[in-house]
Amino acid sequence: MKIGIDIGGSHIATGVVEENGKLLGKETRDINMADINDEKRAQNIIVDTINNEIKLLIERYDYSLSDISKIGIAVPGSPTETSIRRLVNLHINNFNIAEKLSSIYKTKIRIKNDGKCAGIAEKKYGALTGSDDCVFLCLGTGVGSAVFLNGKLLEPKQNPGFEFGHMIIQKDGIKCNCGKKGCFETYASMKRFKSNAIKELRLPKNIESEELQNYIRKNIKKQNVSRYVDRYIEYVSLGVSNIINIFEPEEICFGGSFSYYSDIFLPKMAEKIKPLIFNKDTKLRLVSAKLKNDAGIIGATEI
Ligand SMILES: [Zn+2]
Repeated sequence: MKIGIDIGGSHIATGVVEENGKLLGKETRDINMADINDEKRAQNIIVDTINNEIKLLIERYDYSLSDISKIGIAVPGSPTETSIRRLVNLHINNFNIAEKLSSIYKTKIRIKNDGKCAGIAEKKYGALTGSDDCVFLCLGTGVGSAVFLNGKLLEPKQNPGFEFGHMIIQKDGIKCNCGKKGCFETYASMKRFKSNAIKELRLPKNIESEELQNYIRKNIKKQNVSRYVDRYIEYVSLGVSNIINIFEPEEICFGGSFSYYSDIFLPKMAEKIKPLIFNKDTKLRLVSAKLKNDAGIIGATEI
């Protein structure tokens, strides 16, 4: 069996994955790094959380450490094969996590960008199994992505690349965390969808994601709600049409919390991208992710 780990901005999820890609079970812990400024302490919290989760899982499924054939870790940003780098939210600048974990686990340890891991899982086991040329786009707190051409994941040498979240879709637009203005992410992330919805639709500041989903679903026919959703989808469609015009995918799979709104968002997007596509005869399927929150864990075990 393999261990897949998904490190997010505020939690770590660890799962036991069988050789055929089936997720047997997982453990998720919130990590609160708000008051921590020290990188060493942040590193220890990450490693302790991972160790605890693995311990619980191997006990639950009656495995031992020697049964682990591989450990894969999905992390945001631009990791190297061994290190997590520049994770501002987690106070990590450069952490060779593979070396640290190798003192306990005598097995292969691999690290990759989380969008790529989730894309790999959707391509191999999820919504994208039927396409050779396809794009995975994860719209959640930020924007993650993976591109496959002729069935192969495109991987530049220097960095993970395909930072669609930071392509500029608006000159002098909203300031992004990356320092630039007008990045796709600042218009298309679900974090932005939620924060703007609270402002524009006058919703309670502390509304939970699920409550927001119910609200939008119930009121989608009301003019102010449908106008709000349309405007959001217009921005998403701008970025998506750029991706289509560059890669000519047969299929685009949408993951992250965006996928919970697929039935509302995707038909609207299909209409909005039509005038923006260069090759009018492009045949394209817009689909929702199948593996949802488990894609990062499963994909991490395939790297
Ligand atoms: Zn940016």
